[in-house]
Amino acid sequence: MSRDEKYMRSALEQAKKAGQTGEVPVGAVVVCGDNIIGTGFNKRESHKNALCHAELEAINEACKSIGGWRLGQCELYVTLEPCPMCAGAVINSRIKRVVYGACDRLSGACGSVTDLFSLPCGHNPECRGGVLENECSAVLSDFFGKLRKSTETGQKTALIFALDGTLWDSTAQAVPAWNSVLKEYGLEISAEKKRKLTGYTLTEAAAKLFPSLSDDTAEEIMKKCHKTEIGFLSKNGGILYPEAENTLKELSKKYMLFLVGSSTGYLEAFFTAHGLRQYFDDYASNEKTGLTTQENIRLLMRRNKIRRAFFVGNSEHDRVSSECAGVPFIYASYGSGKPKALRLSIDRLSELPVLLENLT
Ligand SMILES: [Zn+2]
Repeated sequence: MSRDEKYMRSALEQAKKAGQTGEVPVGAVVVCGDNIIGTGFNKRESHKNALCHAELEAINEACKSIGGWRLGQCELYVTLEPCPMCAGAVINSRIKRVVYGACDRLSGACGSVTDLFSLPCGHNPECRGGVLENECSAVLSDFFGKLRKSTETGQKTALIFALDGTLWDSTAQAVPAWNSVLKEYGLEISAEKKRKLTGYTLTEAAAKLFPSLSDDTAEEIMKKCHKTEIGFLSKNGGILYPEAENTLKELSKKYMLFLVGSSTGYLEAFFTAHGLRQYFDDYASNEKTGLTTQENIRLLMRRNKIRRAFFVGNSEHDRVSSECAGVPFIYASYGSGKPKALRLSIDRLSELPVLLENLT
């Protein structure tokens, strides 16, 4: 890590503090030699003051640290290109060098809109932009993405995923777990048969799988299978479909994302094994709510005040649930192995953002 990157990381830490308090996340540090002598983050909203930009906060603290206004030996690191006010403060405090991360195409005064440092104002600081640019931009775009979602109340669009066959395929992992239990009873299940149980509750699945066994025995076996499977999946995960994380990340900036499934432990195993909880706003399982899939779709919409949603699934059970919930169905053909059969279909998970772009 270069010296500039090191101090830009410190500025990024400051930016995150601003984001946590609901401010536009911009952070800055003033460095003198090898010491940070001033830090600041945007506090415009909390202080109700247009002057409270990160750079001014950091410069203010630096002046106090050295007991004077001349910062000729100092450098300013800031995550976003300074505005005219802050660039003016840099000139006035004689800061020798400015390093920024992301460009500000709307009000950047270090080259984007204007370049105050090149004017004959008696002091021309050196300037370097684009240090850790991607990270600095991501902090801002994440913030504005979340803000967009939370301010468009009543107009928010949600995407509700049926976990199996849309985001991951857990069959290959689950079948050995099930068979480790079933062999005690002289039974066995194939991957194909297991796949057909998707979307059913344990009781429904038990009745389908072991019609000749008593209800109690069938359910007891199913519970054991399920418990073993959850343990296995929490640890090892399933097979995510290509581009799953990138697609969820992209979609989460624009839509609220929900997940539905038959059992609670199963959804949590997915979150735990793949670290994807951060992209989802809410989830519901039939087991926990005691509701059907279609009722859970309505429940998630109600408790998040959603008027418009799409349900992404891969089975006939999913399609019917979607129809009963009154929500358009998007058919994930890659999860069923069957070709596109419906108007709203995707052959790859990564096609979803473009499909939605054309619909919303
Ligand atoms: Zn500023």
